[in-house]
Amino acid sequence: MEEYDKQHIRRAVQLATAALEAGDEPFGSILVADDGTVLAEDHNRVSGGDSTKHPEFELARWAATHLTETQRAAATLYTSGEHCPMCAAAHGWVGLGRIVYASSSAQLSSWLTELDVPAGPVRPLPIRDIVPGATVDGPDPDLADQIRDLHRRYHAGR
Ligand SMILES: [Zn+2]
Repeated sequence: MEEYDKQHIRRAVQLATAALEAGDEPFGSILVADDGTVLAEDHNRVSGGDSTKHPEFELARWAATHLTETQRAAATLYTSGEHCPMCAAAHGWVGLGRIVYASSSAQLSSWLTELDVPAGPVRPLPIRDIVPGATVDGPDPDLADQIRDLHRRYHAGR
């Protein structure tokens, strides 16, 4: 992971923190064009009752509406947590480019187990199990403690 990536991945973690502060699950993502322009960003918005409102899914659909096929393939999606299977599938169908995640689904699963959080209804598979051709970087070990703490705070507040 390059310094350039670290800057964007830190922004994704800031958005995850903003989600937590808004009472939502701490996940955040940004979509960056190949020239470094930030195209769109979002965080989890599932607290209203729609459990599909993940940022990676929203950004994939944003990209389908606003970008050409070439622009989508050249864009990088930075996210605080590795995509769930729903979001990975959306990423694959829309034809977005590289993914950089700060923490993996395997890390999240182990943190939630430590916190006694019951397993969700969707199995947390690695992105490449869903999108075999995806280019994926992560996790960033420097951010693991910070992200684990966001999840601890979220579940402590429930
Ligand atoms: Zn998801």
